[in-house]
Amino acid sequence: MSYTFNPQKRVLMGPGPSDAHPRVLKAMATPLIGHLDPQFVQMMDEVKDMVQQTFLTKNELTFVVSAPGSAGMETCLVNLLEPGDECIICVNGVFGGRMVDIAERCGATVHKVTTPWGEVTSPEQIKEALKTCPKPKLVALVHAETSTGALQPMKEISDLIHDADSLLVVDAVTSWCGVPLKVDEWGIDAIYSGTQKNLSAPPGLSPVSFSPRAVKALENRKTKVQSWFLDLNLVKNYWAGAKRAYHHTAPVSSVYALHEALNVVLEEGLEKRWERHQSVHQYLKQELEALGFKYLVEEENRLPNLNSVYLPEGIADEASLRATLLNDYNIEVGGGLGDFAGKIWRIGIMGESCTKNHVNMLIGALKEIL
Ligand SMILES: *Cc1c(COP(=O)(O)O)cnc(C)c1O
Repeated sequence: MSYTFNPQKRVLMGPGPSDAHPRVLKAMATPLIGHLDPQFVQMMDEVKDMVQQTFLTKNELTFVVSAPGSAGMETCLVNLLEPGDECIICVNGVFGGRMVDIAERCGATVHKVTTPWGEVTSPEQIKEALKTCPKPKLVALVHAETSTGALQPMKEISDLIHDADSLLVVDAVTSWCGVPLKVDEWGIDAIYSGTQKNLSAPPGLSPVSFSPRAVKALENRKTKVQSWFLDLNLVKNYWAGAKRAYHHTAPVSSVYALHEALNVVLEEGLEKRWERHQSVHQYLKQELEALGFKYLVEEENRLPNLNSVYLPEGIADEASLRATLLNDYNIEVGGGLGDFAGKIWRIGIMGESCTKNHVNMLIGALKEIL
């Protein structure tokens, strides 16, 4: 008995994955070569260069973890934290909470800065936290909180953290290649992202980058990193220049896809891409509000590519509405998480899914259904 699998073609407008570019899908069908083949090694160098360009960083320690965004999160935290370290983690949604869990598993003492979901962390809150914990090893924040659609302002907070001689760790899974993100200019010391959001590549890879200050912290560790797979001391040699040593077998086809997706981004231009996400967001917002949807996040901290909206009044069962969208129109949008489950939708316009046509499809379907 064998099985065939031919899924319906969907329009992906949830919190990720987003629609992939045909060039990216084609790249995945490229014949395999060995992961230590000189051609593959050269391609990895090109991927590293393009990740540096899109992160806007010169950080030498920039590479791609062979696992999804959550593994990038874990890479940053397990390498920078040792048992007994103190850290500050800002929590205003699901992903800040996940960082707390990982940091505690590293044996660190975590000082949480909690903010209601849908809001962002203020510089005053960071100042307050630095009074109770004046010399944290690191302060971690989520730049684009996908569970709520809030976009965290970074610059002022970054200055406070550096004044405290602490490292700034940033989750950029949903901001990278969709909204302005400037690793070096903003003084980010450790950053991770994912491939399936604004990059529009398949899920399963996590680009990361570490500043020279973070590398120094790594070199000064007293204990071994408890994860073998994510230990930067081991994995960095796999991504470093000519003397490449075997560490694990890279997911060759996924790296092909990432390489092509980065080409697509750089051909469009980072700033043009940021502008496109902003302008399609404005169009979506106008159409959603006309139908009676209301935004969760205040306008000034709103993430353009992940729109968290309350449903129009009178809709009791949002889940069956989402099921109709999926089953009858092949359109996927996300539901709410945590306290917002059953109350909001999360509508993603990321990368290839960020076009006026996508908005028109969704709004046309909603007009028929409502
Ligand atoms: C999606 C996401 C992650 C996790 O990425 P996975 O690829 O699902 O592991 C982490 N942080 C944020 C902000 C995300 O949106």
